[in-house]
Amino acid sequence: LLMLGIETSCDDTAAAVVRGDGEILSQVVSSQSDLLVRYGGVAPKMAEEAHALVIDQVVQKALDDAKLSGSDLSAVAVTVGPGLSLCLRVGVHKARQVAKSFGLPIVGVHHMEAHALVSRLVNKDLDFPFLALLISGGHNLLVLAHSLGQYVQLGTTIDDAIGEAYDKTARWLGLDMRKGGGPALEELALDGDPDSIKFRVPMRQHKDCNFSYAGLKTQVRLAIESKNFADDIPISSASEEDRQSRANIAASFQRVAVLHLEERCQRAVEWALKIEPSIKYFVVSGGVASNKYIRTRLNQVAENNGLQLVSPTPSLCTDNGVMIAWTGIEHFIAGRFEDPPAADEPDDTQYELRPRWPLGEEYSEGRSVAR
Ligand code: ATP
Ligand code: FE
Repeated sequence: LLMLGIETSCDDTAAAVVRGDGEILSQVVSSQSDLLVRYGGVAPKMAEEAHALVIDQVVQKALDDAKLSGSDLSAVAVTVGPGLSLCLRVGVHKARQVAKSFGLPIVGVHHMEAHALVSRLVNKDLDFPFLALLISGGHNLLVLAHSLGQYVQLGTTIDDAIGEAYDKTARWLGLDMRKGGGPALEELALDGDPDSIKFRVPMRQHKDCNFSYAGLKTQVRLAIESKNFADDIPISSASEEDRQSRANIAASFQRVAVLHLEERCQRAVEWALKIEPSIKYFVVSGGVASNKYIRTRLNQVAENNGLQLVSPTPSLCTDNGVMIAWTGIEHFIAGRFEDPPAADEPDDTQYELRPRWPLGEEYSEGRSVAR
């Protein structure tokens, strides 16, 4: 079984070929980091154009690197949601084009399910049910994975995701955004004192598994304003004292941002074990899961509860085509796929996309507010 996976839901154009047994035959990512640096975020129209510009090359390179042609493939998997419709459409269009040319079935993939399931490629012992924390620029999810396609959402963010908070903080601290806000902030935080600024831990009065990062962002903004340095002065031109002050903010932010994760994960473990006492694994995935400090802290949460942490390598945590191909393989084997497009399907056919697509039902127990 050979699966091509295509991912264009946000700002990375990615493709990969994965074999049925989990062997990764190729992995190609073209990221729009230059655009992100210049415009401070993802502008859908520009992102769409950037995807459209490289999608053919990215898919071709994935096939070339795997030393395969389209006719060798068994099927094509593609992200159909959640994400920006304009961007999703570029990937789906390409997937259907390849599928039509070679008469291949198509598997429509949920981007967040893929972030979770790639951990099963990494660790072959990882069986359902398991608990997963999925943390990225747009999502902050705690899910109980019952079985393929069957998830219960234990918690989500009521405002921003943690990756968004890392990115904004990094930008405000004048960090070099070319390597990505999260990694730059993680690095700077190593030089700072995490106890120097006492940010409030979000949502402690809410005894549930939801997250909130908007308030922490505001606290960081205020701390930066009181220190009086502007984001138009990059950290590379800052004085030593100024640099230390920025590092302190970075470390204090990271400490509280992650403490919030730890607290919610501890509760989620308790909830999950009540529902499914057989759980053995705690999966942490999504772009933010590449953070070493976060991995270490969450590994402790897992250990405290007798669970094993599984967190994919950074290149499989951030958006990639491998996770889409692998999730495609899981669904394909389970018989969930669409027939190949008709040979006479017009090129401008409108496909069904799922820009907003929840990953399973919300779990509602314990949503009480403590006094
Ligand atoms: P989605 O929310 O749809 O899953 P995404 O566009 O956020 O997708 P990902 O690649 O999954 O894409 O995650 C990117 C996020 O991960 C960014 O916010 C980035 O700053 C963050 N990130 C990456 N590496 C680190 C790190 N070492 N520390 C903290 N955050 C990181
Ligand atoms: Fe993602």
